[in-house]
Amino acid sequence: MIRTRFAPSPTGYMHIGNLRTALYEFLIAKSQGGSFILRIEDTDRERLVEGAEDVIYKTLEMANMPHDEGPDVGGNYGPYVQSERKNDYIKYALELIEKGEAYYCFCTKERLDSLRTEAGGETVAKYDRHCLSLSKEEIEENLKNGVPYVIRQKIKDGKTTFHDEVYGDITVDNDELEDQILIKSDGYPTYNFANVIDDHVMNITHVVRGAEYLSSTPKYNLLYEAFGWEIPKYVHLPAVMKDKHNKLSKRNGDASFQDLIAKGYLPEAIVNYIALLGWSPSVNQEIFTMDELIEQFSIKGLSKSPAIFDIEKLTWMNGEYIKKMEPDKFYDWAESELKAAVKRSDIDLKKVAGYVQSRIGTSKDIAPMVDFIDALPQYSTDLYVHKKMKTTKEMCLEHLKRVLPVLEGLEDWTNDGIYGAMLSLIQEMGIKNGQMFWPVRTALSGEPTSPCGASELAELLGKEDSLARIRRGIEMLSADVA
Ligand code: GLU
Repeated sequence: MIRTRFAPSPTGYMHIGNLRTALYEFLIAKSQGGSFILRIEDTDRERLVEGAEDVIYKTLEMANMPHDEGPDVGGNYGPYVQSERKNDYIKYALELIEKGEAYYCFCTKERLDSLRTEAGGETVAKYDRHCLSLSKEEIEENLKNGVPYVIRQKIKDGKTTFHDEVYGDITVDNDELEDQILIKSDGYPTYNFANVIDDHVMNITHVVRGAEYLSSTPKYNLLYEAFGWEIPKYVHLPAVMKDKHNKLSKRNGDASFQDLIAKGYLPEAIVNYIALLGWSPSVNQEIFTMDELIEQFSIKGLSKSPAIFDIEKLTWMNGEYIKKMEPDKFYDWAESELKAAVKRSDIDLKKVAGYVQSRIGTSKDIAPMVDFIDALPQYSTDLYVHKKMKTTKEMCLEHLKRVLPVLEGLEDWTNDGIYGAMLSLIQEMGIKNGQMFWPVRTALSGEPTSPCGASELAELLGKEDSLARIRRGIEMLSADVA
């Protein structure tokens, strides 16, 4: 049975790279009927951020990636939280001491600081194994006197080789590895230790995480070996990049799930897009529902070359998802943007929603598309000139002058009624449709483009406002043409 886990540290922020890791873990498990577990790695007490766990739950919920098990919290599965299991880890560390695979270290901060050396411009402070040579008596004495201590892993000599499903076989010289701390002086395990213990006790079969952990993996392997435990399969994922040279970072404001939601992207579209950031499906398809992703996903499709996060591609994909939304669902999602952009109370916002739905990439595209509704913007009469429709300012002036009385006398102020009245006039005048619709649309919106045509706009704005805008167009064109 496949078991994967998402093991975020609560930083208050869900980086796109982390969400992609969670997604691949979810898909690896679900594609093979396995379980997906959530584990909060919060043993670094100095870096705790309030509310951060909520961000994790909320994100997984919005992204439709429920986890499968965990302690009962009010009838739901909670996550496993490392800090709540603090004392469980000590016994494993003591077991390693017993086996000669770990040791107490009583070195003071000052002593450790004195080990710092400059190498290649970087500060290196590899522990010199000072406490490895302490006698049993010295250790007991120190413990009895309450001297603060940490427990360190004793790295054995030789080389360590491990296999990664994405990067292949990797070998390192153990000389390069430090006797890392397993239990800190505050009694909490380090991330590196708790992670290994938990992956074992939770029977994790596939450890999926960012490639930045590749360099720590040999140390984890040595821990598994020291305990005599089975080593899980490793799946390390390359970084998500902003461009060829830079990682997607918190600073550019596009790096988190929350940033993207705030910028008007849909969770489903984000999930679909990030699924393809480093995984190539075997089918020629880009839009996937979660069920389709589960069906198609395979570790074999993962790539070790870093993927570039292309916001334009995401925006396109988001637009595709928006188009497919049920109109009511779209309205609910877009309502706050619509209400912020259109303050007039006589406007049917559901209609506006219907007009913009197929034309936007994100919900933030709505406001600039509809802000002409509240007030006609300042515009140039050059907008009336349309090459393809062969319209000139003179012609537009004439056509607006002709349509004005027709519309003034129109009783049936509906899209159909307005359209019909304009069409009769067009036929009577023997002109092309666009030569009438274009100037009317321009006069009504004052914009080079609008989310709907002339008659729909006129219906939306109402008779009085529409006529006023057409009169304004006539005024502006008259002044220009004269
Ligand atoms: N707590 C680690 C992180 O947030 C998890 C690494 C892992 O999955 O092993 O990056």
